[in-house]
Amino acid sequence: MSTILEARSISYTYPDGTRAIEDVSLEVEEGRVYAILGPNGSGKSTLLLLLAGLLRPESGEVLYRGKPIGEVYRRMRREVGIVFQDPDDQLFAPTVREDLAFGPKQLGIEEGELEERIERVAEELSISHLLDKPPYRLSGGERKLVALATVLVMEPRVLLLDEPFAELAPDASIRLEKLLKRLGDRTIIFSGHDTDMAARAASEVILLNGGRIVGAGRAEEVLSDEGLMSASGLSPPIVARIYRMLGGRARPPVTVEELIERLRAERLIRGPPRS
Ligand code: ADP
Repeated sequence: MSTILEARSISYTYPDGTRAIEDVSLEVEEGRVYAILGPNGSGKSTLLLLLAGLLRPESGEVLYRGKPIGEVYRRMRREVGIVFQDPDDQLFAPTVREDLAFGPKQLGIEEGELEERIERVAEELSISHLLDKPPYRLSGGERKLVALATVLVMEPRVLLLDEPFAELAPDASIRLEKLLKRLGDRTIIFSGHDTDMAARAASEVILLNGGRIVGAGRAEEVLSDEGLMSASGLSPPIVARIYRMLGGRARPPVTVEELIERLRAERLIRGPPRS
């Protein structure tokens, strides 16, 4: 495992004086999936923009593959893709297909390969039927998926996704969750406040509150820490709550599979023997 992105003690204040990020340090390992969780206004979007190199920290630095991002900006533009929280910041072409073609054309991807990528990504996200529509005619959830597609067609090594699950209907949300799993060797950092989604989709969790990191580590460890959850203004995963309601006393599980296993082991429920 190697560190692909790193923040060293970064801080950021918006021009109106709002201190959005305060002394944040983190290391992102290649190939892992991170969830940045925190309440509204905790600094998630700002942190993603800083990691993408779209905002400059006023102090501290961001490194990509060990180098200050100012020195490797061109490589980063090719390898790091960010999907903004508001898809309207990402979509501007007359049709979805043209929006999807824009980035790869800038990279010099040739026509045949470009068509292939667009068809494949559109199919993966179930948006093929939207390709010839103008983005502004789409629903909020459809626009979210199209914005994600404009970045996936670039085939980035690192994907920064700002609240990708917000506004998605349950079926689209499940598709996205599966897609993130299929992206396998890519590094993914997504933001949100849904601890259940984080338990299912992320291997690592970073908790932000008031612009500071208040907890970070393996998803199952951070998400099962109920004190930390409430201090961060987040609800613990529903699985952890069910475990408590059924009388579980140990550190709670965070995934359904682990819940069933633990409830049986602790004889809180009965069930058929495991095969
Ligand atoms: P989150 O993504 O967790 O909701 P943000 O990073 O969007 O948090 O915001 C962090 C803080 O910075 C909030 O207090 C927010 O109001 C403020 N903020 C965000 N964008 C701007 C901006 N362009 N100008 C001034 N303040 C901003």
